[in-house]
Amino acid sequence: MGPKKRGARKRKSEPDLAGDKEEEEKTEEADQRGERRRKDRGTKKYIGAHVGIQGGIWKAVETCTEIGGSSFALFLGSQRTWRRPALDQTAAAKFREQVALKGFDPAHILPHGSYLMNCGSPKEDVFEKSQALLVEELGRCSLLGLHLYNFHPGSSLGSITTEQCVEKIASAINHAHQQTPAVVTVLENMSGQGSTLGGNFSELKSIIDKVRDQARVGVCLDTCHAFAAGYDVAAVGRTIHLNDSKGKLGCNLDRHEDVGKGHIGVAAFRDIVNEPRLDNIPMILETPGRAGFEFAEQIEFLYSLFEK
Ligand SMILES: [Zn+2]
Ligand SMILES: [Zn+2]
Repeated sequence: MGPKKRGARKRKSEPDLAGDKEEEEKTEEADQRGERRRKDRGTKKYIGAHVGIQGGIWKAVETCTEIGGSSFALFLGSQRTWRRPALDQTAAAKFREQVALKGFDPAHILPHGSYLMNCGSPKEDVFEKSQALLVEELGRCSLLGLHLYNFHPGSSLGSITTEQCVEKIASAINHAHQQTPAVVTVLENMSGQGSTLGGNFSELKSIIDKVRDQARVGVCLDTCHAFAAGYDVAAVGRTIHLNDSKGKLGCNLDRHEDVGKGHIGVAAFRDIVNEPRLDNIPMILETPGRAGFEFAEQIEFLYSLFEK
């Protein structure tokens, strides 16, 4: 059995981090509320959103529960610095405890890699720093009890060939796999903007082909990026970013739009949420969330598209 059992075991071996009794009761109440909302609602689809970690990494779990998500994405630390202090053990324990308490399956939690990273960089110092950050972030995943890690493949910056860039990215992944246990690295398809790799699915395949541990590599399909790159299809990924596109088919622009409000449109999202091959994987919103149609409403809207 999943999270419940793990939670129970943890509470026995670790100090109670939830604090006083009153807070515990409050948590329990919120928990029961969350219980009804966070389930897959009989659809086998785990729809959620990318949520913030301000105030502590465990806050992501609370936020996702509040918006009725059954999966979520989060950054693992500051996006502004290459060198971060090590993840606080207490914070990590609190995160794991919240995940168990709120009933999330770690398989439905998809951390997003730092935007600073470019594992395909032609600049040796940036490549080195990116490789180190990749190792560090995978370590954080393990500490948080997570199994998946999503990141952008990288960019050639126009000064090396695609093949050379692919080579660098694959070597960074192989290096990180050697340094860390178990976490699956999930490459995101991109919009084809500039000299970013991964707009073309064949580029992702070239990278994946060079990864030694095939069990530890997969693809995160971003619907906005795929559409912008010219793919008018819902391909099958290991994880999904559910974003509509402000730009038209093949525009190569990375401009997210709220689901159903862009050029991908409602019909395509209805197909995606009803696609049985996409059962049991995290489906994450990274949309702007205009007033009145924020994450909670978009999640609700997506669940309303299910055909019985
Ligand atoms: Zn991304
Ligand atoms: Zn994007």
